[in-house]
Amino acid sequence: MTWRLEIAVQTPAHSALGDLLSYASGAELAPGSLVRVPLGRREVLGVVWAAEAVGPATPAQADAAEPMALREVAAALDALPPLSPAWRDLVGFAARYYQRSLGEVALAALPPQLRDLSAVQLARRLKRRTAAGEGPVVPAMANAPTPTPEQARALARLDAEAGPFLLFGSTGSGKTEVYLRAVAELLAREPDAQALVMVPEINLTPQLEARFAERFGADAVVSLHSGMTNPQRLASWLAAHLGHARIVLGTRMAVFASMPRLALVVVDEEHDPSYKQQEGARYSARDLAVWRGRREAAKVLLGSATPSLESWHQSRPPAGEDSGGRYVRLEMPSRIQAKDGGEGALPTVRLVDMNLQPPKTVLSAALLDAIGQRIARGEQSMVFLNRRGYAPVLACGDCGWKSECPHCSAFRVFHKIDRSLRCHHCGFAERVPRACPSCGNLDIAPIGRGTERLEEHLAELFNAVRRPDGSPVRIARIDADSTRKQGALEQQLAAVHAGEVDILVGTQMIAKGHDFRRITLVAALNPDGALFSSDFRAPERLFSLLMQAAGRAGRDAAYLAAQESNAQMWIQTHHPQHPLFTALRQHDYPAFASQELEERRAAGMPPFAFQALLRADARTQETAQAFLQAASEAAASLEGADRVSGYPAVPLPIQRVANVERAQMLIESGSRAALQKFLAGSLPLLHQLRQSPAGKGVIRWLVDVDPQAI
Ligand code: ADP
Ligand code: ZN
Ligand code: ZN
Repeated sequence: MTWRLEIAVQTPAHSALGDLLSYASGAELAPGSLVRVPLGRREVLGVVWAAEAVGPATPAQADAAEPMALREVAAALDALPPLSPAWRDLVGFAARYYQRSLGEVALAALPPQLRDLSAVQLARRLKRRTAAGEGPVVPAMANAPTPTPEQARALARLDAEAGPFLLFGSTGSGKTEVYLRAVAELLAREPDAQALVMVPEINLTPQLEARFAERFGADAVVSLHSGMTNPQRLASWLAAHLGHARIVLGTRMAVFASMPRLALVVVDEEHDPSYKQQEGARYSARDLAVWRGRREAAKVLLGSATPSLESWHQSRPPAGEDSGGRYVRLEMPSRIQAKDGGEGALPTVRLVDMNLQPPKTVLSAALLDAIGQRIARGEQSMVFLNRRGYAPVLACGDCGWKSECPHCSAFRVFHKIDRSLRCHHCGFAERVPRACPSCGNLDIAPIGRGTERLEEHLAELFNAVRRPDGSPVRIARIDADSTRKQGALEQQLAAVHAGEVDILVGTQMIAKGHDFRRITLVAALNPDGALFSSDFRAPERLFSLLMQAAGRAGRDAAYLAAQESNAQMWIQTHHPQHPLFTALRQHDYPAFASQELEERRAAGMPPFAFQALLRADARTQETAQAFLQAASEAAASLEGADRVSGYPAVPLPIQRVANVERAQMLIESGSRAALQKFLAGSLPLLHQLRQSPAGKGVIRWLVDVDPQAI
């Protein structure tokens, strides 16, 4: 017998090759099998998508039909069970929805090391794996807290209803405990079930992993994220695929983990922009999680203190004519209270009107005083500023020279620590010039302020202050620069946890998720930019960032009660009257969300409309824009094009990066299906156009469905 197999292999994005390639095989291989196949002169990993018997090959048939001309599968990795139909459907859906090739999505979803292993090596590796994780997992409940009434209610509904669920719980309301219990209840019912738990950032995985391992045992839990080595990733992937791991914990890539017994998917901090992949197939792991849950009849639990407006709208209760959204909203408004009566209150929000401060004020006197009080009590403060480096620009006061990047439409940032000017977009770095490169003036000065300069400034201000034990004040900084070295972040976080730091300075990296116990004051220094951004999602992101940052303060209710202290969130702004801050002050996400949703509805923006971005990169902005314009004209005749509107091509906010000019065109429709159909129809046109004179000078183009930043 000869078999004709349709196989997904990694083909270059947008290559002219079809989605699947055909190969011949002498043995029947089930769909989902992993194989090694020849491609050009290489041998590559592939996934069998379909198999068809083409019968014994006779010379006559060989002439008549083409199968015999097919190349043979080189090897089957048959020690591995095939990938499930559900997994293949997920990949197929993601490829279609995000307009990428099946092979690209399928291969990117597999651990990289699988590509390099021969069938024999893989079989050997599998043999070495003992039947780890066999036998039911018995959760360690001795130290588990008794659920609060809010937690108990959420868990009961989770159990009784189908979902998907949106767990809307304040920071510190015990969402993680709900995830832990939901998994425990699942495993009690179905001992061989699997749960997928996703978090937005790698640096949040160790903390969560520790909590899951403590509850379920280290053998039951594996991680999947890009910070792991290839062998580690392969080991985790195999444990999940073979059904040995009960719990897979990971970042967005984990949404594609092969989990044959998947029964529960948790997406923590579901609003976080990191769930959207920003290169290759630009998928949203949150949205795919919901799709996957439905396909596999697994429960889906999205959790957040500040849900995305999409999920919030989707979980609206029925009202009047409106029959409500598809998600079930579970609410946990209260912070966990301390056993001995601590209030567990959310921090008080204090707005400092920067218009009333002396010119050039960095930290207002009131804020400095408040930080000083924390130091005197042995408490910690966190000050965040969303800009790393020493100063965003270096400038010459004489001739007006500024530290522009020669390759990008952006300034190079001054980093004092190594006296460099570094472009945060293309990476171009140079030593700081001694004199102005344009006029020779020796007096070139930093303008503005990043975390490095803020750290220095705080050190000067608190130089003479002493901690209760008489020792000097300790200031630490955590941002992408301070954590570049492997393990640096863990060390720095440990120092904060151990109380070795009095003032922690950092970017939004420190605002997310960390359970710092002694921080009682959080300050945001310069959040105003997002209030008036051209990106309509900027206020939503700012609100959730500030709420999350506020959530870092006063997490230890018992401590606060004992000290008669209280937690504070300070915001320095030039727009204290802005409604966003009013809602923030009251910790009123629903009020903020309804304001924003009203504006979005009126303007016809998501979640009331669906969007895609078409982007082109070229040597000149004209070429890039002309390509997009030509594409839009060609697509205008597609069936259903009247249900879609295209905006004019415009430069990206950072127009030029590494000498490449970038342009984009927003495409919008009130119907997701209409937009999908239009995009699918446009793709072949784009391929054609790229080969035509209009494509000359175009370096690349791409489609971003449901873009997160515009
Ligand atoms: P969230 O994920 O909502 O920010 P966590 O689940 O991290 O909140 O809970 C905050 C703190 O409260 C943690 O230290 C956790 O151990 C504790 N906690 C959670 N649930 C309870 C409970 N039912 N009783 C007592 N403490 C709890
Ligand atoms: Zn000059
Ligand atoms: Zn640059």
